[in-house]
Amino acid sequence: MSDGSPSRGEEYALACEVSAAITSSLVLEDVMATVARRIAEALDVWECDLYEYYPASETMIATACWARARTPEDVAWIGTRVDVRECPAYRDMFRDQAFCEAYASEESDPVDDALMRKWGEQAVISFPLVFEGSAIGCLELVEKREVRRFDEADKRLIALLAAPAAVAIHNARVYRLWEEENRHLASLLDSSRALSSTLDLDDLLALVCRTAAGALETALCVIYEYDRRHDAIVCRALYEVAPTEEAGARPGMSWLLDDYPSVRVVLNGGRIVEESIRGPRLAEDVRASMEEWGAKSWLSVPVSFNDEPVGMLVLMETERERRFSAKEIDLARGLAEQAAAAMHRARLYRREQSQNDRLRALLESSRVLAGSLDVTKVLDELRAGAAGLFGAQRVDVDVALSGDDGRYLPLAAVLAEAADGEGGTDEQGPDVPLDELSARVMKRREPGQESTGDLCRVVVPLVLQGEAQGFVDVRLKGGHELGRDEMGLLQILAGQTAAAIVNARLYNTIERQAITDGLTGLYNHRHFYERLNQEFARAQRYGLPLSLLMIDIDDFKHFNDLYGHPVGDLVLAEVGRILSGQLRRGVDQAARYGGEEFVVLLPNTCRDGAQVVGDRLVQQIAALTRAAAGVVPEGEEDARSVGERIRQRIAGAQIPGIRDGSEPHVSVSVGVAAYPGAAGGPAELVRNADKALYVAKRLGKNRVEVFDA
Ligand code: GH3
Ligand code: MG
Ligand code: MG
Repeated sequence: MSDGSPSRGEEYALACEVSAAITSSLVLEDVMATVARRIAEALDVWECDLYEYYPASETMIATACWARARTPEDVAWIGTRVDVRECPAYRDMFRDQAFCEAYASEESDPVDDALMRKWGEQAVISFPLVFEGSAIGCLELVEKREVRRFDEADKRLIALLAAPAAVAIHNARVYRLWEEENRHLASLLDSSRALSSTLDLDDLLALVCRTAAGALETALCVIYEYDRRHDAIVCRALYEVAPTEEAGARPGMSWLLDDYPSVRVVLNGGRIVEESIRGPRLAEDVRASMEEWGAKSWLSVPVSFNDEPVGMLVLMETERERRFSAKEIDLARGLAEQAAAAMHRARLYRREQSQNDRLRALLESSRVLAGSLDVTKVLDELRAGAAGLFGAQRVDVDVALSGDDGRYLPLAAVLAEAADGEGGTDEQGPDVPLDELSARVMKRREPGQESTGDLCRVVVPLVLQGEAQGFVDVRLKGGHELGRDEMGLLQILAGQTAAAIVNARLYNTIERQAITDGLTGLYNHRHFYERLNQEFARAQRYGLPLSLLMIDIDDFKHFNDLYGHPVGDLVLAEVGRILSGQLRRGVDQAARYGGEEFVVLLPNTCRDGAQVVGDRLVQQIAALTRAAAGVVPEGEEDARSVGERIRQRIAGAQIPGIRDGSEPHVSVSVGVAAYPGAAGGPAELVRNADKALYVAKRLGKNRVEVFDA
């Protein structure tokens, strides 16, 4: 060093000053920059660089650079990794803990020469920074202005200043580790705190993503959930430090694992994988997805619970390639474990919640079904119950019941028939053909299911009073095959439906019996009065006509005497059948008034119309006599067969005293009364009809008389 070199005292003062700089700030970049500057100034060189040294990997990383005129290249140099194995001079320096010098245009390593020329360096001197016996870095002084030789005094000063610089590097490392540890612990604490405070999986995963991206300082973090059914991964959460329009994915998007074999390896292998875009042996699918995401480096962390893969957490760097430290990888693993616990817990919760919802729905439909006596509502209630179990959008339910002839009919058709109550077998609609599944279910009397594409079909037998009498046919859209639990719930629902059908049918029968006459199948006396009151009120309110026929079989006592009561009963039943066959279905009402007397209510029918109906009935019933005698005109097929039946019964009755060839006589007399007219109320209408009937009897029977006030 030249004459202006500092004295010992000045040297120590300088060393103290540098040491003081180290403790003056907690911002490490500042400390390192100050140390570099003070050393450069003390030795009056162009530039001073500080490096950290990692013996295990034999790498140096530039941590500070101070220069008299700092260029952008100098700034960019900070953070650069240098492979010591490729620089024998450095290697020797660290090994021997000795100076390493290089001077321009002097014979030295050609690599060094080239570098010096490139950077315009005239003289370079480096010295290892040793802390507690180990080299943990080095300082490097560069002179660009002239070829300067560093003398012994310079070297002594460099060695002196290297001590506080080593402390600075050491502190920097400790501080960084400590800070990182803190940050990691804080992140884990944060996310685990959040985990215990919310049960919403999406919130949780979003938080884990944000925490992971923050703690590992990556541009992006994505969490995928493994979808076992489709063998795919689904993006569940995504966090971008600087959100861009064209992010590689949105939550909900999914990818088939068959297209991404590398993802399958991460999921199943349970090992964390680190990849960089320029890395050797990068799998094609990984390269493709890295490009899609714009990622330079990424860390894929499997998320598994109880050794079962549940998903994957990926941390991405988009700006530059990077390597993740062991600590960072540990942290990522810890966060992935939290994500796993969250996913697992949320799944359990979801399952439990849906099971709860289902049980509640089942309870509700069971209550409704059990309380329902209206057979026409059973299907609606069953559908509501199934919607409660599986969601209204997804489910479609039909029920088929076996009819008397063994065919299966839609429940609605069977119910309509039952509700009708008048034996309307004429139009049942098409029957339900048994396909393979339903045939198998009916045969085995146990539920079965099949899936085609997105549709799952489940058939459950309906066991009514110990017999499989039909089945519930459930179609589920977008559904998986039902598990044991779901199948069990559906069976309970089917059982309730069966019970409801039996109950409702029973109730229907009893209700019908209560209003029907057993012999003729017509309404009974009591129900007739109910209908009469209703129809009369309606006629009054709307100003519509209403007529009533009172019908009495002529000389029926005599008929009974001749042929016996059983034949008389047959005649009564046939008369009843003729009455209901001759009337407008669902409009006119015929009832057995008592004994051999009938009444017919004709709503919206005036006196003349009623008389026409009466005449027709008289003729039809008289035809029974002619039919029985075998003199029914062509075209009256119905009456002929009926008459034939009566005749056979008469012949079969073998009643003593009746000669062969005797002709049974069946005729009726009819009294007609109409509203509006003389009748002010329902009772009077009946009385008037009765009066007309009396007139008909008096005038010789087998005729119709209309009440005239
Ligand atoms: P009329 O022409 O004046 O009506 O003479 P009738 O014999 O029909 O009248 P009556 O009132 O004297 O007798 C009614 C008969 O109807 C008495 C009874 O034998 C018969 N009858 C009433 N209910 C039944 C029944 O349920 N079955 C049978 N077989 N006969 C009945
Ligand atoms: Mg009578
Ligand atoms: Mg009579």
